Amino acid sequence: MPQGEVRKTENRPKRGRLIVISGPSGVGKGTLCKKLLHGLPHVCLSISATTRSKRPGEVHGQSYFFLTRGEFERIVQSGDMLEYAEYNDCYYGTPRFYVEKQLEGGKDVLLEIETQGALEVKRQFPDEARLIFLVPPSMSILRERLAGRGTNTKADIDSRMRIAEKEMAVREQFDVCIVNDELTSCYQAALEAIE
Ligand code: 5GP
Repeated sequence: MPQGEVRKTENRPKRGRLIVISGPSGVGKGTLCKKLLHGLPHVCLSISATTRSKRPGEVHGQSYFFLTRGEFERIVQSGDMLEYAEYNDCYYGTPRFYVEKQLEGGKDVLLEIETQGALEVKRQFPDEARLIFLVPPSMSILRERLAGRGTNTKADIDSRMRIAEKEMAVREQFDVCIVNDELTSCYQAALEAIE
């Protein structure tokens, strides 16, 4: 083998890992992800696509890629969504290209996604994905947190709580469950789970 080729193989970065933060809406996935991104420079965040409408303050390409159902379905059909799920009557999915590119470049990629998508990631990447399920201290605290956001209607909160019950039922399928009652201890537990 020519020398140049050997060197090329040696220099190739070790493929990154997928860190999946899941659990019911309102449990604090976003806050934990922000702290993980701040503390771990080798980790980057996957920006999801969704068909839900934009909330005040959300920015296309930063919070989500906001798509029509038609646009979303075309991406799914072309195989460019790594995983996707229907949640609360809207599609949510992880665009494949960015994630693959970061993994190839040796970066770990953080996915903040609901449970069906998380389990699909585990199915596709059994050795590369670490699945963390955030558990609310109680279901009444979860409801309070959803209401406290001020961006969800009562009907939306009720619907998210019904979905939360189903999501809690699959938590045993995750690599680690962490009760999120306090950010610092939750962060420490997540760091240990990722190591
Ligand atoms: P929200 O409407 O509150 O932004 O998100 C609703 C749910 O969809 C949350 O549990 C969130 O983590 C999840 N979600 C966000 N992006 C994705 C994604 O790309 N794939 C999947 N499966 N779920 C996602």
